[in-house]
Amino acid sequence: MRLRDKIALITGGNSGIGLATAERFVEEGARVAITGRDQKTLDAAVTKLGPNALAIQADLTEDGAAERAVAATIERFGALDILFLNAGIAGNTPVGATSRAQFEQVLATNLTAVFFTVQAAAPHLKEGGSIILNGSVHQVLGIPGASAYAASKGGIGAMNRVLASEFAPRGIRVNNVVPGATRTPIWRTFAATSEELEKLEAVYSRGIPLGHLGEAVDIANAVLFLASDEARHVTGTEIVVDGGTIGAPAGAPIFRAET
Ligand code: NDP
Repeated sequence: MRLRDKIALITGGNSGIGLATAERFVEEGARVAITGRDQKTLDAAVTKLGPNALAIQADLTEDGAAERAVAATIERFGALDILFLNAGIAGNTPVGATSRAQFEQVLATNLTAVFFTVQAAAPHLKEGGSIILNGSVHQVLGIPGASAYAASKGGIGAMNRVLASEFAPRGIRVNNVVPGATRTPIWRTFAATSEELEKLEAVYSRGIPLGHLGEAVDIANAVLFLASDEARHVTGTEIVVDGGTIGAPAGAPIFRAET
């Protein structure tokens, strides 16, 4: 059991990467609080996760929501060792067709809410604890139409290093997991039907050296490592889980002679 007796708070734990991480954490002995806005998927997640899970309904872009989520976690489990700042939204914000409200919603969710959740949890995190941020390959890839999303995730990459410095005196580690394209419900933002989703996946897969999207559990396993004491000397850095998208782009199917 790699997380025996640890207590974790996972934002956006009712879906995709957050839910897969909650499952891995519970399997490894942790007690886990999850947040999300949607009560139905929160209830379904807790049913799946079992008695060592607590669901907290919270929109983390609202003032006081993070403080309530942290307080509910402490009230139920008594402490906090691990914080996974996973909640996030996609956003299509091309130049020429983007309102200020759309742009700011992405930043508010993916960046500002992350900082204020860390701030809310900070007084309660135990020495030796672990904070994990959720970045994206958008941090560096320059994918068109994604200015707000890329800026939010670039901000996560920068903030990761600042937070690692700030928390180092308390022995709390801070790291960023950087997923590439991963099969989760977030892709519904760009594809209304299953056929559209399939097409989108096929296009994206051609740019991934390993030839396919990641699964949520692939990211969860990296988060599990960062959360565990196996990573006790790892802070201020990133683990990229992207099938080679950033590190070995020339190996992607799209560049192979036969394709
Ligand atoms: P999902 O859509 O499955 O999960 C997103 C989660 O965030 C949901 O649980 C959602 O819950 C929660 N959430 C969104 N907005 C808020 C809010 N305002 N307050 C509280 N919770 C919120 O997508 P993923 O699992 O893919 O995304 C998880 C993270 O991974 C995101 O940060 C995303 O940017 C990142 N990522 C994903 C990649 C991918 O290809 N899937 C690639 C790179 C990074 P609810 O709707 O109930 O609020």
